[in-house]
Amino acid sequence: MRVIDMHCDVLAKIEASRGRLSYADAPELAANRQRLKEGDIAVQGFAIFVDPALPGSMRFQSCLDQIHYFYDEILGKHDDMTLITDWSQIAQLQDGQTGALLTLEGVDPIENDLKRLHLLYRLGVRSVGLTWNYANQAADGVLEPRGGGLTTLGRDIVALNNRYRMLTDVSHLSERGFWEVLELAAYPIASHSNAQALCDHPRNLTDAQARAMFERGAPVHVVYYPEFVRLKEHPDKALPLLPSRVRSRSRT
Ligand SMILES: [Zn+2]
Repeated sequence: MRVIDMHCDVLAKIEASRGRLSYADAPELAANRQRLKEGDIAVQGFAIFVDPALPGSMRFQSCLDQIHYFYDEILGKHDDMTLITDWSQIAQLQDGQTGALLTLEGVDPIENDLKRLHLLYRLGVRSVGLTWNYANQAADGVLEPRGGGLTTLGRDIVALNNRYRMLTDVSHLSERGFWEVLELAAYPIASHSNAQALCDHPRNLTDAQARAMFERGAPVHVVYYPEFVRLKEHPDKALPLLPSRVRSRSRT
């Protein structure tokens, strides 16, 4: 089985290190090149994630810096990593090649300026999640207590995703936002969410959500993050199955 992993935190970590971490084998990077080879990963999604603590005016720069590392450190130094900008390219990958897909986790860095999203598309972004866990200018995240849906800007972003055939990612989105995206999005995806029926965490999907995704033909990609897989009544049973490097991740 070859795996399509739609989410990792490599770009934010390389940016935080100011380029010090080597994509080749830095142990701090859960999805470094060496590990993708060991796992025979067909395609890896690389999320741009901007620290919510950054002032608004610095967020787009942080986003651009992470895109720089995607091209310079990951693609620029690894000939066997192949940029994916069209879905048909995935079927054309040769043995030993891994596709690299640029994704955006939370639209905070574009602020209220859709021109920035056009630009990010031109720079290679092909999947857009509206939020991380909390509210932003587009929608409420899954941990935002008021549980709101999409703003007008959020709806405009989904329309732009549709026009460009970009995925709209529902992982991290509030439940109300989820159902609105399912109405609006031509290409919905859950990039890293599991089943609430197995692990009752707000980051996981209810059966109704998962069923709606499958009925749409929308992919749901699972995530091996301890909090999202651990069975509360049997915490010891789930944890030993996880590799130590997964346990050490701090955010997903
Ligand atoms: Zn995440």
